[in-house]
Amino acid sequence: MKQPANPLTISARNAGQVELAKYCPRCCWYLLRIKKMPFAFGMPGLMFYMEQVEKAFIIAYLNRTGSLPKHLKPFSRCNGSVEFPYAMHHFHEETGVIVSARPDMILSNPDGSLTLIDLKTSKPDGGGKEFLPQYQIQVIGYSWVANAEKIGNVTAAGIIYGDIQVDSFVKDPLKLQSGEGFNVPFALSSHDVPLDYKRLTRCLTEVNKVWNAERPPKGVVGCKDCKLLTRFVDFENNLQLTDLRLDAAFPDYHLIRIQQDFDRRRTRPLPMEIEDLLSEDHWDEEGGMWSNWEF
Ligand code: SF4
Repeated sequence: MKQPANPLTISARNAGQVELAKYCPRCCWYLLRIKKMPFAFGMPGLMFYMEQVEKAFIIAYLNRTGSLPKHLKPFSRCNGSVEFPYAMHHFHEETGVIVSARPDMILSNPDGSLTLIDLKTSKPDGGGKEFLPQYQIQVIGYSWVANAEKIGNVTAAGIIYGDIQVDSFVKDPLKLQSGEGFNVPFALSSHDVPLDYKRLTRCLTEVNKVWNAERPPKGVVGCKDCKLLTRFVDFENNLQLTDLRLDAAFPDYHLIRIQQDFDRRRTRPLPMEIEDLLSEDHWDEEGGMWSNWEF
């Protein structure tokens, strides 16, 4: 396969996958190229609303008190929120990668510097804990972009977790009954992320190496996803082989095989050139079984 001619553009969050224990350069090679996996589920709606609620609370609290709750230190000193573009990107000279960022919140500090915050709706010590290194790179990268794009001097960054208090709710659900339903307790906690930009550079160097690799690197031995993927491809290969055999044995089957072949190919008439694959991110659109099928 031809190597990409354009520089890699990647979000700091995606670059952060390099720091995960389960990072696989092979999967990274494919993901950088195909950009969107089939059968992918978007963020569940409830999570999206929870983030909105979290953000609304923080802004309302800041507006009323000029600070954040004490237990959210070191971010409790923040005294306001600042405006910034929804999406930003900047060229990282050292690695030759364009880093993109979509921060959740940028807050002002009393000394005029800024604090960049990412909101997560999960338990800090729950099942998503393994993703913490990636989240850290995400806020480090977003802070780097915000600085480079001259939003201000970002000197601190971190994560504010919003965690549903299921245990306390289940203990006495009727206590939290409201007019038309119930209120769910929601606790916030903070996680400070030191702005170690060397970590970002290491991740960008690795993803750029994978981006420029002509062939996919070796994958993780024994990975269950790879087995499933191979099985999926085997189904298709097997179908094509069966069609060819039937075609040879029963000439009348010829038209059915052509029809099947046409059905397979009409979604992708010709393999695309790498430049076309990478030039426009037109893959990022609705589609796939999960949105088209009624379960
Ligand atoms: S080994 Fe697993 S993680 Fe690596 S390419 Fe295969 S599916 Fe992806």
